[in-house]
Amino acid sequence: MDVRQKLKDCGIGITKPRVAILEYLMKQCTHPTVDDIYQALVSEVPTLSRTTVYNVVKLFAEHGLVNTLGIDDRNVCVDGDTTPHGHFFCKECGRIIDVPLTELSAGGFDCDGNMVTEVHLYYKGVCSECMSKRETDESRSPR
Ligand code: ZN
Ligand code: MN
Repeated sequence: MDVRQKLKDCGIGITKPRVAILEYLMKQCTHPTVDDIYQALVSEVPTLSRTTVYNVVKLFAEHGLVNTLGIDDRNVCVDGDTTPHGHFFCKECGRIIDVPLTELSAGGFDCDGNMVTEVHLYYKGVCSECMSKRETDESRSPR
């Protein structure tokens, strides 16, 4: 779907930074931070500042165009994929990986008479890449 049309549908005015940031977030699956977004786009949009990125991300989140994740204690990470899914945070390399939700945890269900419409599921641990790195490091180290 066209990014400009998405902005229009939300009643958000079209500016160069907003278009560039939304386009970037739609094609990223790495959950970038405000700083990552700034670094990736500053050559394309030289007037960009971190404050602008922060404000645009906040605006997008308020309109449900993106989700912000609090999974990493040090940074707010931005997800352009707003379909229901959970996240896994690797405590070694800091990667955030998408994980599927079970049907029950995808939202839209009743919880003791309360209507659940969103579920934010965070797993933390060591990712498969870091686990295999650990194994090779262990076999290599002399005893
Ligand atoms: Zn890892
Ligand atoms: Mn995600």
